[in-house]
Amino acid sequence: MQAEPVLVAGLIEVCRATIAANSDHLCALDRAIGDGDHGTNMRRGCEAVSAEGESLSSLPFPDAMEKIGLTLVMNVGGAAGPLYGTLLMEIGRELRKSDETADFSLVLKQAIDAVARRGRAHAGDKTLLDVLYPVHAALAKRSPLGDVARKAERSANRTAAMKAMRGRAAYLGDRSIGHVDPGASRLRAADHGNLPLSRGASSAMNGKTANVGIVIVSHSPLVARGIADMVRQMVGDSVPLSWSGGNVHGDLGTDAGGILRAIEAAWSEAGVAVFVDLGGAETNSEMAIEMLGLPRSALVSICNAPLVEGAVIAAAEASGGASLAKVVATAEELSP
Ligand code: ADP
Ligand code: MG
Repeated sequence: MQAEPVLVAGLIEVCRATIAANSDHLCALDRAIGDGDHGTNMRRGCEAVSAEGESLSSLPFPDAMEKIGLTLVMNVGGAAGPLYGTLLMEIGRELRKSDETADFSLVLKQAIDAVARRGRAHAGDKTLLDVLYPVHAALAKRSPLGDVARKAERSANRTAAMKAMRGRAAYLGDRSIGHVDPGASRLRAADHGNLPLSRGASSAMNGKTANVGIVIVSHSPLVARGIADMVRQMVGDSVPLSWSGGNVHGDLGTDAGGILRAIEAAWSEAGVAVFVDLGGAETNSEMAIEMLGLPRSALVSICNAPLVEGAVIAAAEASGGASLAKVVATAEELSP
């Protein structure tokens, strides 16, 4: 499938302009049941993609989709970055595998399923999936594009009646009912975005020991850094240690690119144990590990353990030369 420069450039511009026009509205929706950054996150992403427009337009279409997805992951942050990034990257990968006559709705279905796996979410959980699946169904029936758009609009509005089961809004429980999901609402319009800013924050160490490394990931740079300080006080330089906190601008949030750099900074041939706080931190960490690629990704584990106690006990275990499996198991014993 060869590049269609005008098509790619046009898609990018439509998405950028639509998100820019709706950014404040998306932030307002996210303020009601989240942290108010969804519009800003997506806008930053679209501007980043737009800045890469010229080079993207010269790529074969599947490569352009995959690159746009990666740019989204590296720049949007939050929950939305890895989820929209996965959608676009999977569309690119699936298109590359198929021939010219492939049915796009099948490609889209594979990509939406990948988003669902990434977020461990299902239809009805009040997320962007509650628009993606209906849009797919309409496309599969070959509905006219105007009907697909109306279906997206209706589906986004229907999320108001749902209780959030995933993402930050899930912490609100029943109080999330009555508000439209910002991620779903964004899909009423269009898609895409991003550029390589990359901040993320990672710091500390590198003892270059054979001990397991530790990475702390929090939405707050202060929390991540504070816990890393506590760990450092316990184990000194005997354990490779790094942290990532905040989104690409250093505000509250998480950033797959920053986490990737933190893992690389704490790299040890014995492996790396990652400790995360809220949901987006886990999703972005999984994305970062995937981006690390095999064989290194197989040596990184996310621990299901309390952040502070887990990191401290894991570091103590690691400083004694324990294996990655033992470090993780010891930390996870602390889970309720
Ligand atoms: P954050 O919640 O980290 O601030 P954003 O505000 O950018 O991230 O995105 C929030 C949107 O992401 C939600 O409205 C929801 O549609 C979607 N979302 C959050 N968590 C998940 C998940 N686990 N699976 C699918 N979609 C999710
Ligand atoms: Mg948000």
